Amino acid sequence: MNPIQYVDVNMDDLISDLQTLIRQPSVSAQNQGIEQCAKLVKKLLKKSGINSEILRLKKGVSPIVYGEIKSKQNPAKTLMFYNHYDVQPAEPFDLWDDPPFSGVRKGNKIFGRGATDDKGELITRIKAVEASLNTTDDVPCNIKFVIEGEEETGSAHIENYLKKYRHKFSNDGVIWEFGYVDAKNRPIVGLGMKGLLFVELSVKESTRESHSSLAVLIKNPAWRLIDAVKTLRDPGGKILIKDWYKEVVPFTKKDLDLIDKEPFDPSVFKKEFGIQSFTGDKNVLDAKKALVGGATCNIAGISSGYAGEGAKTVIPSEATAKIDFRLIPKMNPKKQVMRLKKHLKSNGFDDIKVRVFHGEAAARTDSSNPFVSQVKDAADKSFGNSILNVSNAGTGPMHPFVNILKSPCISIGSTYMFSRIHSPNEFARVDLLKKTTKCMYLIMKNFGTI
Ligand SMILES: [Zn+2]
Repeated sequence: MNPIQYVDVNMDDLISDLQTLIRQPSVSAQNQGIEQCAKLVKKLLKKSGINSEILRLKKGVSPIVYGEIKSKQNPAKTLMFYNHYDVQPAEPFDLWDDPPFSGVRKGNKIFGRGATDDKGELITRIKAVEASLNTTDDVPCNIKFVIEGEEETGSAHIENYLKKYRHKFSNDGVIWEFGYVDAKNRPIVGLGMKGLLFVELSVKESTRESHSSLAVLIKNPAWRLIDAVKTLRDPGGKILIKDWYKEVVPFTKKDLDLIDKEPFDPSVFKKEFGIQSFTGDKNVLDAKKALVGGATCNIAGISSGYAGEGAKTVIPSEATAKIDFRLIPKMNPKKQVMRLKKHLKSNGFDDIKVRVFHGEAAARTDSSNPFVSQVKDAADKSFGNSILNVSNAGTGPMHPFVNILKSPCISIGSTYMFSRIHSPNEFARVDLLKKTTKCMYLIMKNFGTI
C-alpha cells in the first residue's frame, strides 16, 4: 500500500481522532481545557509515530506541543507544520444545532468548535505523516510540528517561543495553520498575511459633560476628534500620514501576473455585502490588488456623548476612536506609530492621546521561491486546479516565522470558505479532509525529493 491509498482506507480513524480532539474543549479566551488539550495532542502525535513533547515559556503561558520525526532518506531538509490546538469560544450556545463540543458527524460534515479551525487542519497533517511512516517506514524529509495554544487570542507569545527555541524549530519551509478552499472547491495557496496596527485615539476637553447651550464657550471633543481623524486619509482610502508608504516596494511583475489570474467576481462580492461600489471606486484589478497589498486606515468604532433614543442636549467631555491599520510588507508597526504621533502633532493635534493595543508586521513569501511550486504541484494533484494568492487580506502571526526562523511560509489546507469558523455550527468537510491529507503527504514528498 502506498501513502495515498493508506489515507483512503484509514479515513474512519482520522475522523474518530478528530472527534476526540473536538470533544476536548480548549477555549484559550476562557482558559478552558488548554492543558488537557495539549496533553491530548501530544498523545495523538505519539499514536501516529511522531516523537512529541510539551514546551513551556513561563507560568501562565499556554504550552506548545512540539513534534518531530527525522527522515532517513533526506535528513538535510526540514518541513514545519504550524498549527494551534486552542479554539474560539463556542457562544452563543443556543444557535448550535448540536452541542458545540459533540463532534457529531452528519453525512460529509463533522460539526463542532474547532472542527476546521484548527483541529481539522491539524489532523490532516498528523495523518499525512502517519501514512508515510506506516507504508514506507520513513518520511520524505524531516518533519517538525509547532502547535500553539494561544492563536485565537492573538498569539501573544509565539514570537518569544520562536526566539527561545530558534534552533530546535529551525526549518526550510513552513506550512501555515490554515488554508482556504473556495466556493468552487479550489484550494488557495496563500503566500502572505497583512500586518495590523490597532490604536485608540482619545481627547478630553472638560472635566464633566455640560449643557449644550454652553457650546458657544466649551469646545466639543467629538468635533476635535473628527477633525483629527479626517486628516488621516483621503476619501479614496489613501493614508495621508507622512512617510506611511516610505519603505513599501511595488508588486513584482510575477506578483501582478498572479493577481491578474486570481478569480474575483465584483458583482457577487457587492451583492454579498449589499454595497453599490468599492472604496475609491476601484475597478476589478485594483480591487484585487488592494485585497492582496493595500494598506488601510479603518475606523473600527467611534464614541462620544449621547447616542441613545430621542434627544439630549449635551456637550460630551471626551471622545474616543478605535482605529485599525492593515499593514503591508516593509511597514514596521513601531515606526508607523511614531509617524502617526508625529502627524497628529504637526497638524496641531497634540492633545489627542494615542494608545497602542496591537502591532504586528506583515509577512510574504516570494512567489518565485521553489517551495511555492512544490506546494502548488501537490495541491493541483490532490484537489485539481489550485489558485496562487500573493497575500491574504487578513492578519496572522506569520512575520516571526519569516523574520526569526527565516522560513518561507505557505498556507494551504482544508478550510472550506463557508465552514462557519468562529461561528455556531462550525464544520469540517470529510471530502476536503481526505484531499488535504493527501496534499500534505505530496507536499512532504515534493519538498524532500525536488
Ligand atoms: Zn481561528
